[in-house]
Parts: sequence; C-alpha cells; structure tokens
Amino acid sequence: MNTVSVIGAGTMGGGIAQAAALAGYQVTVYDVNGEILDQARERIVVSIEKGVSLGKTAGEVAEKARGSLRFTSTLAETAAADLVVEAAPESLVLKREIFTTLDTAAPPHTILASNTSSLSINALAGATKRPDRFLGLHFFNPAHLMKLVEVIAGDDTSPETLAAANAFVASLGKTAVPCQDTPAFIVNRVARPFYGEALRLLGEGVADVDTIDRLLKSAGFRMGPFELIDLIGCDVNLAVAESVYAAYFQDPRYRPHPIQRRMVESGRLGRKSGRGFYNYADEK
Ligand code: NAD
Repeated sequence: MNTVSVIGAGTMGGGIAQAAALAGYQVTVYDVNGEILDQARERIVVSIEKGVSLGKTAGEVAEKARGSLRFTSTLAETAAADLVVEAAPESLVLKREIFTTLDTAAPPHTILASNTSSLSINALAGATKRPDRFLGLHFFNPAHLMKLVEVIAGDDTSPETLAAANAFVASLGKTAVPCQDTPAFIVNRVARPFYGEALRLLGEGVADVDTIDRLLKSAGFRMGPFELIDLIGCDVNLAVAESVYAAYFQDPRYRPHPIQRRMVESGRLGRKSGRGFYNYADEK
C-alpha cells in the first residue's frame, strides 16, 4: 500500500491524513468545502511542526510528510488510491452516496474504509459492488495521536482486505482492535452512559458542567464528559447518539438528551465553533 485518500477534511479526516503522511504514504485529502480544505492544510502543517518542536517527529520525516499531502475538491482524483478512508459526516444516506461514487471511480484493487462511529459497515458496504474490499477503520480523536483503531469487518470483508488494513494500522504505529459490526462497535457503545448520565445530571440540575467534569476526572478519566463532547463536536456526538438509539430500536438506555439537540441548534458545536459547553473564544 502506497497511496491513501481521505474523504472529508474535518476533525477526523485531517488527523488521519496527518498520521498517514507521517508514516510515509502519499496522501490525497478531499472535501466538498474549499475553505475547510485550506483550514485542514494549515492545521496539519502547524500540527506537524509542533511534533518537530516537541522532538517527536524528525525534521526530514516532517518535510517528506508535508510534500506527500495533496488537497483536492475533485472526488475522482481521490478514488485512485490503494486505500480510501471516508471521514464525512455521520449520515448513512450521505456516506452511501459517497461510497457508490467512489466504487465506480476507484480501480478494482482499491480498499474502501469508513471511519463511521456507529453506522453499520454492512449497510455501507452494500452501497458498493466490492463488499470484499470494504471495512470499517474507526480512528479516535485526535487521530494523529490516539493509538487505538477499531477494525470492523463486514460479513463479506475478505481475509486479504483485513490483513492489508491491519498492516496499514500497524504502519501508522497504532493498535488495531477487531470488532463486530454492531452499533457503535466497542468504544462508543461502552461510552454511551459516560455522556448520557452526565447529560441527565445536568438536565436535572444536580450539578453544573464543570462540577460533573471534575468529578469524573477525580475518578480517573483523562477528560470530563463535557470536555470530551466539546472536543468531539456536539453535532458529531448528537449524530452518533441518534444513530445508536435508532440502531437499538429506541432502547431507552441509549436515548439522546434534549440538551444535545439544543447545543447543536444554537450553533454551540464545541471547540471547532469556539463555544460548546465551555467557551474557547480566548484560545482562538
Ligand atoms: P467534521 O464535521 O469535523 O468533518 C466532516 C467533513 O466532511 C467536513 O469537513 C465536511 O465539509 C465534509 N463533508 C461534508 N459532506 C461531504 C461529502 N459529501 N464528501 C466529502 N466530505 C464531505 O466531522 P468529524 O468529527 O471529522 O467526523 C467525521 C466522521 O468521523 C463521522 O463519521 C464521525 O462519526 C467519525 N468520528 C468522529 C470522531 C470525533 O471525535 N469527532 C471520532 C471518531 C469517528
């Protein structure tokens, strides 16, 4: 595997592209939004530089990585790669449309992967004629730093595809964890009560955002639930919550909270919009 394309240059796409470029792949990043592409390029360059200044990345590796990144708003260019990782918004309809287009445009050997947090890999693979070369590669945020990658096989994913995907994950210096194609896989399934209970406590006025976050951190979590939702993006967190709730046929354990919707409708999306449960205006 030499060439990797990333679909969607947002929070996750940018991080995945950075990780792949630093591991020596030729990387093409695609987004429908030209402004976001420019921002992603800037963010990746700054982040690679930070790695150099912290002594984590060698100067020549950084230079090679910068030179190996291309940014495009033409989907057909993106499809010509050994591996395409899709990191577009968490919508089954949108992702299926993207995969149908990619499947038509990509060479036969190309492996298609989705970074979906909660949608069925079989449902996405069904939008293509290559379910044997289709799988889930679920990175975590920030994708250039987090070591875990959930590797999700669909019913028809071939052993060769799985082996190539596992080798790719290892080449990024990350750890692949095999998962079943169940709603939200392992991590997001386990994490549902972390967000859900915190939102219920807040909604019932038991404690405020900061207190709940501090409580969870005092119990050993690296970040509190509200800090983490802000990092993930309130919109992404809501989309995943709705998707898991629907996938479990409205099991009340997974019911999203009205606060989540209110945050999204009011434009408070977290760090990326400058305000979520906390205010990031000063940082910007
Ligand atoms: P994001 O909103 O930051 O980025 C999504 C990007 O997709 C945007 O740049 C948008 O312009 C672009 N886009 C919209 N329509 C598109 C299209 N038709 N084709 C290509 N690009 C398009 O979202 P994100 O947080 O990067 O999430 C992307 C995926 O990764 C989702 O499936 C999400 O569930 C998953 N994920 C997110 C996190 C997280 O913490 N944010 C973690 C793991 C997985």
